[in-house]
Amino acid sequence: MSDCIFCAIASRDIHGRIVHETEHSLAFLDVNPLAPGHTLVVPKDHYARLDDMPDEISADLFGAVDELVPRVEDAVDADASNVGINNGPAAGQEVEHVHVHIVPRFEDDGGSPIHAVAG
Ligand code: C5P
Repeated sequence: MSDCIFCAIASRDIHGRIVHETEHSLAFLDVNPLAPGHTLVVPKDHYARLDDMPDEISADLFGAVDELVPRVEDAVDADASNVGINNGPAAGQEVEHVHVHIVPRFEDDGGSPIHAVAG
């Protein structure tokens, strides 16, 4: 999609701090991190929401997330991580290109659990 920032990163039209790549997915550091090592994992092609993705793309994306979570935690010596998706604008999705947040967490870091809104 021509005006999508994550499509532009995936096509290398704009610079992203890319940390991992698979056939269908790309991971890069968030420009406005909630914690050191905050990483986004996106499909290379444009899909706005989770259920827009074909199964093959979804499997590749979540496979990459599964592989990256321990690596991201190790890289910043985190104790845990929040892994989440804002799926749709009403849920806080600002960039309408599917992205999985991996947010490293540290003991007593004062952050919120992912169920803060629902709970
Ligand atoms: O889930 P949501 O759409 O709100 O998150 C978008 C994320 O994309 C934010 O964490 C923001 O910092 C990040 N972002 C980025 N690079 C951009 C634009 C947004 O890492 N060029």
